[in-house]
Amino acid sequence: MADHSLPPGSWASSEASRAVMLGNRGRDTSPELALRRALHRLGYRYRVDHPPIPELRRRADLVFTRRRVAVFVDGCYWHGCPQHYGEPSTNAEYWRSKIARNRERDADTDARLRQAGWTPVRIWEHESVDDAVVKVACALDAPG
Ligand SMILES: [Zn+2]
Repeated sequence: MADHSLPPGSWASSEASRAVMLGNRGRDTSPELALRRALHRLGYRYRVDHPPIPELRRRADLVFTRRRVAVFVDGCYWHGCPQHYGEPSTNAEYWRSKIARNRERDADTDARLRQAGWTPVRIWEHESVDDAVVKVACALDAPG
């Protein structure tokens, strides 16, 4: 999970960007819920908000323990989606480094999971449920 603490001062210059940031905080955001529902309907069973590897101390949004697949639904803002991340006009330096740290941590998490024999699946929150289901299903069906 990303660190969602906010910087001091007036960091959100527009109501729109503020709404995006607030909407991306925390769990049970609607894209993740929609994906969970779709997978469940298809008969998939998984753990929710679960650490794939306990010693890693990082949770995945959906975890398929037996198949060793860890799914992360990444917020477009916090994880720096190339399509939707727009740099705020205030505190730009703060946000640039914060998003960069989040992205580094995402990459580090993926690398550690792969080393441990897991398959990380990254899904942007803007992706359609159908696309997300295909990504997860492909990871689950892959050999190994
Ligand atoms: Zn996006």
